[in-house]
Amino acid sequence: MEASDGAPEPMTEPPKPTALILHGDCGLHDTGWGHPEHQGRLPAIVHAIYRETPALLDHVLQHEASPASDAQLQRVHSSEHIEVIRAAAAAAARTGEIVRLDADTVMSAASWDAATAAAGCAIDAVSLVMTGRANTALALCRPPGHHATPDRAMGFCLFNNAAVAARAAQAEHGVDRVLIIDWDVHHGNGTQDAFYNDPRVFYLSLHLDGHYPGTGGAHETGVGAGIGTTLNVPLPAGTSAATYRDAFSESVQRAVDQARPDLIIISAGYDCLTGDPLGGLLLEPQDMFEMTLEVVEHARGTAAGRVVMLLEGGYVPARAGAGAVATLRALAGLDL
Ligand SMILES: [Zn+2]
Repeated sequence: MEASDGAPEPMTEPPKPTALILHGDCGLHDTGWGHPEHQGRLPAIVHAIYRETPALLDHVLQHEASPASDAQLQRVHSSEHIEVIRAAAAAAARTGEIVRLDADTVMSAASWDAATAAAGCAIDAVSLVMTGRANTALALCRPPGHHATPDRAMGFCLFNNAAVAARAAQAEHGVDRVLIIDWDVHHGNGTQDAFYNDPRVFYLSLHLDGHYPGTGGAHETGVGAGIGTTLNVPLPAGTSAATYRDAFSESVQRAVDQARPDLIIISAGYDCLTGDPLGGLLLEPQDMFEMTLEVVEHARGTAAGRVVMLLEGGYVPARAGAGAVATLRALAGLDL
């Protein structure tokens, strides 16, 4: 805007926005419409966010990510695993058929591009926050990541977006300690594996007890130098939102006190919402809004406010959309 005499008005420093990171290729990963992690999830989430455009316009910076490089993936994943994923996408392209990696993890011709784009969304979210272009970020990663171990795809996950992002923060931005908070209804076994012996990345997971993939017992606390930097909080099916929220507040406080993180990454699965077909917990978008505010408040205390949120699960697309809107509004400092 210019003043009437043509001279520019004095600039005041605008508040830093929240970044929303996407990549068109994430939507092309074709698992088939009978698969819970189907191609309709991302458009539903994006549509729900775009419906909020009048409120979000001045607060959200939209960013198209660059795909992750092999070198960025190799900070977490074995070269053999990366080649398995690349070859499976090539096989799908040759045959025109979906390639099955295990009972529930499948790939199409577009899945290599989608998986590297999803990891790239997570890396760029870290980059935008660490370079001060945004305070907080939500990356709409698809396929999800937290079940992918360093050397194996599983549970709909090909590359571990959160783990790759944490390593990018350390390798590319000089971050020392990272806290990963995983509130997906499933235990993030892959993320736990990636950092089980690493004291510089604290992994906290709240999840449904005894649910897929069967890991995440309270006795799993790390090994070697990483003892005490994994915190698992398994909760029984039907746990009320109030009980969950108490457990969340208590465990996040404990993790923050111990980790003193420079950056907080949230593995944001929206399958912890009531009614998820793969879930069993009883949260509402309002809960996720308030949980996000809690994490942001902790981040202000230890991590200069830096919070990076990554999409994991959530299998009722409209509910995942409502959850994404709630968490994005919290990140951006807006009311629900
Ligand atoms: Zn999940």
